[in-house]
Amino acid sequence: MSKVIVIGGGPAGMISAIEAAKNNEVMLIEKNKELGKKLKITGGGRCNLTNMRDIDDFLKKIIKNPKFLYSSLYTFTNLDLLEFFKNRGVEFKIEEDFKVYPQKDSSDIIINTLHDELDRVGVKVIYEKTLIDIVVENEEIKGVILDENHIIKADKVIIATGGHSYPKTGSDGKIHNILKKHGESITKIYPALVPLVFREDWIKNLQGISLKNIKISAKYFKNKKIDMYGDILFAHFGLTGPVILNLSSYINKYLQDGDIELNFDFIPNVTKDEVRKVIRKNNNKSIYNNLKEILPVNFTKHLLEYLNIDKKPNNLTKEEENKIVDSIKELKLRCKETKSINEAIVTSGGISVKSINSSTMESKVIRNLYYAGEVIDIEGLTGGYNLQIAFSTGYLAGISV
Ligand SMILES: Cc1cc2nc3c(=O)[nH]c(=O)nc-3n(C[C@H](O)[C@H](O)[C@H](O)COP(=O)(O)OP(=O)(O)OC[C@H]3O[C@@H](n4cnc5c(N)ncnc54)[C@H](O)[C@@H]3O)c2cc1C
Repeated sequence: MSKVIVIGGGPAGMISAIEAAKNNEVMLIEKNKELGKKLKITGGGRCNLTNMRDIDDFLKKIIKNPKFLYSSLYTFTNLDLLEFFKNRGVEFKIEEDFKVYPQKDSSDIIINTLHDELDRVGVKVIYEKTLIDIVVENEEIKGVILDENHIIKADKVIIATGGHSYPKTGSDGKIHNILKKHGESITKIYPALVPLVFREDWIKNLQGISLKNIKISAKYFKNKKIDMYGDILFAHFGLTGPVILNLSSYINKYLQDGDIELNFDFIPNVTKDEVRKVIRKNNNKSIYNNLKEILPVNFTKHLLEYLNIDKKPNNLTKEEENKIVDSIKELKLRCKETKSINEAIVTSGGISVKSINSSTMESKVIRNLYYAGEVIDIEGLTGGYNLQIAFSTGYLAGISV
């Protein structure tokens, strides 16, 4: 029996410890007082555990290094993940866009199930201890160093310490500098799935307004173009909501070279001519009241204020009508930056996939050292993909040690 140490009690660390314990003596070290602090807040506390797309479609939602994920995702699929929990009494439901949530709408049931399983298979969990370094001799891991320079010897180590985002949950990304020191290559870190900040100050007035199924188009690097559809929410700093978060993962690294212009069509299913007709539908009503049938009043009210148009439809000039229509169908806003990594749902960047064997998750640089989860340079869009990445890579690392 080998002595295995798993660092990090998130989904990747917990599942890898559970699997590793089938053939090894396993110790799981977590710096917090509890396991799964980030897992707890996933999906607004409801935990969007995975996505039911078939694996080929699933991989299209992995926007960084999808090929690296082939082995782990096929070894432990979304169906396998659900089976793991269903066998332990958890029930699930599938919501829009194939997103899977626990029937009870709570991440607690996921954390408790993993906890019980860790106990059942005999994993020793150590809380409130932080890994500060690893012991490497002749390119082979020999153990870990915890705070207060406490050294624990190990035959094999799995690092599942997460990314840099939401550092209050424990995953602060400090591990990347530690690993760099030992020769691992770490790719550049960016916030991903993160709200966007805009130059136009006036959109602050729209704070609190949400719009459904809008279209955003962007040209963000040389000839790279993207069209995305989804829901947005105006905030005091700019914009958030599912489509904004997903878009941020494409444009984040290009924002350092300057602003990126985004083109908003707030009602993609209504043509410009139809908007014109709606504006002039009833001459006795205000324009925003006429527009009520296709857009929320509070949105158009602020838009008209910004355009400085305060008239009845019959007094509207053609030029003013064009201005309104263009602002609804092709409003251009300049994105200047993303919010910080502290507010990002995931981290873009991490341990380079080039230095990890994707069939075992073992480091190619340090023997008997394995990686799992968000600490690696892989990322998915919103929809349950990132938790599945954590569970699949964690499972593969666990059965490989
Ligand atoms: C607000 C929010 C909502 C999200 N919602 C979803 C969702 O619904 N669906 C989805 O798929 N994804 C979601 N995600 C992303 C998902 O939570 C992460 O991708 C996932 O938790 C990564 O798992 P992990 O095990 O790799 O890392 P983590 O969950 O970050 O766990 C890492 C653990 O390691 C511990 N640790 C770190 N450093 C050390 C150290 N030096 N020593 C000891 N322990 C250490 C940390 O305390 C932490 O407990 C969400 C993220 C956020 C922030």
